[in-house]
Amino acid sequence: MNNDVFNQAVKHLAEPIQAQMHQAFAQHPFSGQIPASIMAQLLPAQLPSLLPFAACFAVTPVSDFNVGALVVGNSGAGYIGANLEFAGQALGQSVHAEQAAINNAWLAQETGIKQLFVNASPCGHCRQFIREVAGQEALTVQVLSQPDRPFAELLPDSFGPQDLGNQQALFQQPTQCFVAVDEPNGEPVGEPIGSPAQYQAIIAEANLSYAPYTGYYHSLGLQTHDEQWFIGRYSENAAYNPSLPALQSALSQLRFAGYGLGDVKTAVLAHRVGQKIDMTNQYKTLLTQLNQLELTVIKLN
Ligand SMILES: [Zn+2]
Repeated sequence: MNNDVFNQAVKHLAEPIQAQMHQAFAQHPFSGQIPASIMAQLLPAQLPSLLPFAACFAVTPVSDFNVGALVVGNSGAGYIGANLEFAGQALGQSVHAEQAAINNAWLAQETGIKQLFVNASPCGHCRQFIREVAGQEALTVQVLSQPDRPFAELLPDSFGPQDLGNQQALFQQPTQCFVAVDEPNGEPVGEPIGSPAQYQAIIAEANLSYAPYTGYYHSLGLQTHDEQWFIGRYSENAAYNPSLPALQSALSQLRFAGYGLGDVKTAVLAHRVGQKIDMTNQYKTLLTQLNQLELTVIKLN
């Protein structure tokens, strides 16, 4: 296993932590997660020192502005995030570092997050994205080594889920129970796609997605040339635009594990059909440019 980005990024950490990180990820790809056992050894004042490590995972061909973020989950584990941009695509396809970190914790089955650290002040888009998170009232946000602040101070008079009559929140969303209603269709480029078990794993993630405003529950799995799978979930937002698409959710995780966006050979979307929105064409646009990939689709209902 060779993860050059991780190996370079780790050099930003204090030496004892470097050794533990190498040990923790010697047998499996880096997940973007810093185990709670390692986080527990860091003093609160040392946590911003993880941000240069996180920023190494940014891909910024448009802005050349690398952002690194870290969230601490309720379990005590840390989750990094970094911004992703796509040359030749709309800016709306971008992933912000705070979104990436929160997505990372959410995919790891955290029940919520306690702290957010970031190396630049969170933009309005991210503040709105965070507004959707369960327990955001108690979340603290710290920019570099400045004093931390309650999240509510960063987004006064906010518009949130309750304004649309939604009592759910990201991280504490109910599990859905949609099933495939048809055979998968679409022709993947290259080798045949994964096993029925892999399909079931993708469908299971779709059932953990968060789409309380549109009902468009879905997930998207990416398979690399060396048979690793990364499955992203859709997380929707009351203000719509800060929603994080499932493809971006998966690409962010792929990046932590050291894969380039061109390492993907197969993409599988599991989505609920017959809803007011459909993101298939948006995903095809990015996948076609990234790697001339076609999209296999599993219809759910
Ligand atoms: Zn942002």
